[in-house]
Amino acid sequence: MIRVTFGAAKTKFMICAAALALSACATMYDSAPDANKLAANEPAPNDLLNATLWLQQAVEYKATTDSVYALAHVRLDEALNDPKWTALPDDQKPGYESLPTAIILDADETVLDNSPYQAMLVKTGQTYTDASWTAWAGAGQARAVPGALAFTRAAAAKGVTVFYVTNRNVNVDEGTTRNLKELGFPVKDSINAVMTVGEKPEWTSKKGTRRAEIAENYRVLMLFGDNLGDFVDDYKGSPAARQKVYVTNEGHWGRDWLVLPNPGYGSWESSAFGNDYSLTPGQQRARKLEQLKGWAPE
Ligand SMILES: [Mg+2]
Repeated sequence: MIRVTFGAAKTKFMICAAALALSACATMYDSAPDANKLAANEPAPNDLLNATLWLQQAVEYKATTDSVYALAHVRLDEALNDPKWTALPDDQKPGYESLPTAIILDADETVLDNSPYQAMLVKTGQTYTDASWTAWAGAGQARAVPGALAFTRAAAAKGVTVFYVTNRNVNVDEGTTRNLKELGFPVKDSINAVMTVGEKPEWTSKKGTRRAEIAENYRVLMLFGDNLGDFVDDYKGSPAARQKVYVTNEGHWGRDWLVLPNPGYGSWESSAFGNDYSLTPGQQRARKLEQLKGWAPE
C-alpha cells in the first residue's frame, strides 16, 4: 500500500515535472517566437519600427540629443575664446582668425525631427520615395530635435551666424526655411542661411563645396550632423573605408564636430549594402545580415 502510494506519488511527481517542463518550453516559445511565423492580424516586420519608436518616445533619445547640445554650449564658448579655433582647418584661408564666426548644422535628424514621416512609412507599409519625402519636407511640419533650438538661439545671441547645410533639394527650400522659422530657429534673412542641394550647380549632395564657401567669409567654429557626410565628402565608402575616415578625423569628434544619433537611415546603413539602391529591401537586408559579427556558441 505504501509502495503503491509512493509509486502513485512518484508518478504524479513525474507528470508534474513533465508538465512544468512543457510549460517552461511554452514560456520560452512565448518570449522567443519564430520571427518568420506571424499570427493572424500580427503586423509584418519592418526594419524602421524600433528606430522610429525610439526617436518618438524614448527618453533615452531625448537625453542623448540634449547631452550633445549641452556639450555644444561648452565647446562654443571655448571656440569663441580661442581665435585660432576652427572646425574646417583645410578650408580656412590665412587671416581667418579675424573673420566673423559661424556654425554649420545639417537639418534632418540634426535640428529637424522627421520621425512623423518615418512613422507614416511604417504604419502604411511604404518605403521612402522622393515624392512622399518632398510632400513631407515641403509641408514644413517637422519638429525640433531636443536641445537644438536652445543651442542655436544661444549661439545667435552670441553673434554667431547659424547656417543650415542640408541635402534637402532646392524645391523644398521654402518649406524648410518656413519650418525652421516657425519652430523658432535663428535664420538670418540677409544671407542664404539655408543652403539646399541644387541652389547652385556645384551644390551637390557632397556638402564640401558649401562648407568651403562659408569658410571664405566666416571662421567656422563647429559642425553638427547625423551623417558622416555632414563633416567630410568621402563618406560613401565601404564600412572599412568609413572607419579609416573616422580615425583620420579623430581630433574633431566631440570637439568641433558633434554627431546626433540616427538609427533609422544614413550612409552608415547604405554603406552596408554597397550603396546599391537597385537591390530589393530583402536583398539589402541579406547583405546587412552577412556583415553582423555574431557570437558562435561552442
Ligand atoms: Mg541629417
